Amino acid sequence: MRISIDREGCIGSGQCTLTAPALFGQDDMGIVYVLPEGAEGTSDPSVREAEQACPVQAITVAED
Ligand code: SF4
Repeated sequence: MRISIDREGCIGSGQCTLTAPALFGQDDMGIVYVLPEGAEGTSDPSVREAEQACPVQAITVAED
């Protein structure tokens, strides 16, 4: 699965980092970024939970 994030849309709520801490981090402003583990895609099912948990749909997951 490929992860796309919308850093402009992210409001820093942190559900993604709680749900999939191996895949997402937050910068000093709380804005999401994809960790190296997920940068080239992932098979970790928690990424789908993170996608669902984001309150502003800032995470999009596409199947390979
Ligand atoms: S859950 Fe969504 S709004 Fe919250 S930090 Fe993650 S990407 Fe940003």
